[in-house]
Amino acid sequence: MTEQFRDRSYENQKKFFDRHHCALFSKSIRVSVEINSNEGLFIRSAIPIRNKTWENYNGEFRITLKAIFEPTTLEDLIDIITVQKHFKYGWTVTAEAGTSLLELDNALRYHDPPLTLDSEAIYDSFRVSGVVAVGAHGAKPSSGIMPDQVCSMTIVTGSGKLCEFSEEKNKLEFNAAKVNLGLLGIIYTVTFRTKPMYNLRLSYTYVPVTWLNYPLRIKHLLETSDSIQLYYFPYNGFNTSEDPNLYDFTRDQIVVKRWERTNEPVSFTQQQLKQTHETQRQNFIKIYEIISSNLPQNPRAVANVAAKILSANKNTSFVFQAPDAIHSFAYEPRAKYDLSSYTFKVYPDFSNVAAEFFYGIKTLYEFAKEGKYPLNYLMEFRILKSDEALLSPTFNHDPNVLYCSLDYMPITGTPDYEEFVTLMAQRFFNKYKAKPHWAKKWEFIPNVLSYLSDVYSDQIKLFEKVRAKYDPDKIFFDNKSLEEIFNGALYK
Ligand SMILES: Cc1cc2nc3c(=O)[nH]c(=O)nc-3n(C[C@H](O)[C@H](O)[C@H](O)COP(=O)(O)OP(=O)(O)OC[C@H]3O[C@@H](n4cnc5c(N)ncnc54)[C@H](O)[C@@H]3O)c2cc1C
Repeated sequence: MTEQFRDRSYENQKKFFDRHHCALFSKSIRVSVEINSNEGLFIRSAIPIRNKTWENYNGEFRITLKAIFEPTTLEDLIDIITVQKHFKYGWTVTAEAGTSLLELDNALRYHDPPLTLDSEAIYDSFRVSGVVAVGAHGAKPSSGIMPDQVCSMTIVTGSGKLCEFSEEKNKLEFNAAKVNLGLLGIIYTVTFRTKPMYNLRLSYTYVPVTWLNYPLRIKHLLETSDSIQLYYFPYNGFNTSEDPNLYDFTRDQIVVKRWERTNEPVSFTQQQLKQTHETQRQNFIKIYEIISSNLPQNPRAVANVAAKILSANKNTSFVFQAPDAIHSFAYEPRAKYDLSSYTFKVYPDFSNVAAEFFYGIKTLYEFAKEGKYPLNYLMEFRILKSDEALLSPTFNHDPNVLYCSLDYMPITGTPDYEEFVTLMAQRFFNKYKAKPHWAKKWEFIPNVLSYLSDVYSDQIKLFEKVRAKYDPDKIFFDNKSLEEIFNGALYK
């Protein structure tokens, strides 16, 4: 998400917090708020705090907290996460907005019976409100964006009221709340459906890039797996610092990441997993430092550093509990990346998925001929199902439609990245009416705002009815890009 987008949302939220003398924007805040005559609003067990700031993943977005609550014991966690049976959905879990996916996973893992979310975004450091507000997703084709697992949500709206959104209360309003971009108010709690805990075998297999010549392989893989993700590490068939020409992309390999359900026992203890994650973090920092320190002088030499380091252990296969298999990579905030992601409908024979992944790889070699190396970390795709959240990039009333989400990720500051992504994005816009991931970078694409007004036109008209009802004074709506997109859809 761009600086402008973040800062403006924050300004709105801050105004709101200031008005209500408390910061609801954190896991730090407990459910019950009592009046204390000496101190105004007193938040149960929260520790008042000064000079404490919080930063987002790339340091663009910063807030100052007024109070903080750090869960340190299981009892603390139980207080901000509630697991309960629902008459319609079975076991559900309710978490306060700032709860991380890690905290949620652990509360479910140690519940009796053990439970899990069905699909989650890659990093367990993300918070439930953040993934729901922007429509984040995992890799599972039978499950869509994370908000599709939500069965209800409470939001503090502009009038200061706590409102509940659920399918049972009002389906249209719920479909607006599911991906709300912060426009309906401050999300306070999110309730997810859960599944009984299960194990997944997670395998990485390296295949030649020509594997993509038979797109039905992707379909077959999907049909015989729980989920899949395909990676490409740029220029991996070459030693970019020595080979004089980067010409033949068929020397490259791609990585097939595959999750399969299994009854086999897990391969690692939680303690061993912690150590693996620590090693991963060290690797991510190493990759980031090598690339970022050499990027200005020699972008070519560092274009395949990630390939070399991350491909050291090829063709591995291990068993994990579902959340550990989903969050197979540890988050390392010191390694800064740019992300852009586009979502388009999958053809029944998957030919367009293979073709577009291939096209991206070929284009990287075209750029290399001109001395440009716009991607130095990875390109990847995942397949997910449609959903009915109005502002979702995978919105479709047909539940059987599949979408491909294709991501491009260099380290922050890589030259020519925007030119490369613009080329890809415009191709996807023209061919498929593709939609960008709201939480990734897209505002640099020429004419993207009017394009988004068009492709989201019908959904924005419905969303606006709900938004205007809950925030008529536009307390939460002063983001310039969103304003322009909405105006284009509503008043054209
Ligand atoms: C390295 C990296 C990897 C990523 N991988 C994935 C991935 O696998 N899949 C995917 O889909 N996305 C992915 N993303 C994008 C990610 O899902 C989003 O950035 C997500 O918002 C992160 O959650 P957060 O808790 O950090 O959100 P935050 O940055 O805290 O919030 C994001 C936005 O959500 C809204 N919001 C947050 N909390 C509230 C609240 N309480 N009330 C109202 N609005 C709120 C605000 O508009 C805010 O700007 C990735 C991002 C990074 C940096």
